[in-house]
Amino acid sequence: ENRIVETEAVPGDSWQYSLRPHYLKEYIGQTKVKTNLEIFIKAAKLRQEALDHVLLYGPPGLGKTTMAGIIANELGVNLRITSGPAIERPGDLAALLTNLQERDLLFIDEIHRLSHSVEEVLYAAMEDYALDIVIGKGPSARSVRIDLPPFTLVGATTQVGRLAPPLRDRFGVICRLEFYRPEDLILIIQRTADILAIPIEAQGALEIARRARGTPRIANRLLKRVRDFVQVAEEHTITAVLASQALDRLEVDACGLDRTDRRVLQVIIEKFGGGPVGLDTIAAAISESVDAVEDVYEPFLMQLGFLNRTPRGRVVTEAAYRHLGLPSPAGDGP
Ligand code: ADP
Repeated sequence: ENRIVETEAVPGDSWQYSLRPHYLKEYIGQTKVKTNLEIFIKAAKLRQEALDHVLLYGPPGLGKTTMAGIIANELGVNLRITSGPAIERPGDLAALLTNLQERDLLFIDEIHRLSHSVEEVLYAAMEDYALDIVIGKGPSARSVRIDLPPFTLVGATTQVGRLAPPLRDRFGVICRLEFYRPEDLILIIQRTADILAIPIEAQGALEIARRARGTPRIANRLLKRVRDFVQVAEEHTITAVLASQALDRLEVDACGLDRTDRRVLQVIIEKFGGGPVGLDTIAAAISESVDAVEDVYEPFLMQLGFLNRTPRGRVVTEAAYRHLGLPSPAGDGP
């Protein structure tokens, strides 16, 4: 079962692809990234050169793929999309690269998941626009160099720390996407509502924005589910009250936590006195995998300041007690 606050794309999200803005001026928020890219794109166009390789990093659903498409559109070049796991062997990468036209953009999503052998080939491709391919096996093996057209690689990753340093160093432009502020999410929600012809009041958009975990993908998903609720209630326009009722029904609370997020906090509080408690113990107590707790639940709880990581384990904060309406052990809670 998918969580409605899932940050990764799930199969039911494909409708969102058609919402992707096509040009920089339609891309909401991320002002710093946009301003930088705008300059680099202009300069590359003036020089009639391929844009430097760009690395986009940040949590899922913040618009990395969207931005890659925008860069290609702004440059007026073709976009080829692939992902780290999809490029299994060096030959797969060679096939992609040799099919590029001059200044084309190759987008590699999840670039931290490239295999070593593919990465090695990519280094020369990025640096010298060349492919070094070994032909044959054993004593008759020889290396040939194939020239490539100048191209732009746009890599995206949610885990920049897992990128091999030699790969990271070959990106001329490195951009970090941030969680969106509520005011930007409101604009994104209103834009989506506009495109889908969903009547919504500003306060209704704010209510959804607040619970969307700073993430456009989640904001769009919540909007669509709230619309269902409003239609079934035989209402016309999404208001703050209707949005709030719908989101309560979906068990997405005022901070964007869902049932499992709250369960993580509750388990630590009720069974372990608020912590410190080890990751394994938490995972076992809520019947989830350690990976899920570490990669999915914990980052957002930490971002909200509800959970701290200490050398002795995880600790629930005062703010979390307050959010759950529980008395805190420190005694100064509600
Ligand atoms: P990522 O590649 O980082 O996982 P996507 O580029 O797929 O994220 O973005 C998810 C969805 O969110 C897109 O389909 C798009 O509709 C929407 N979106 C993302 N960023 C923006 C933005 N800045 N403005 C408007 N919509 C956005």
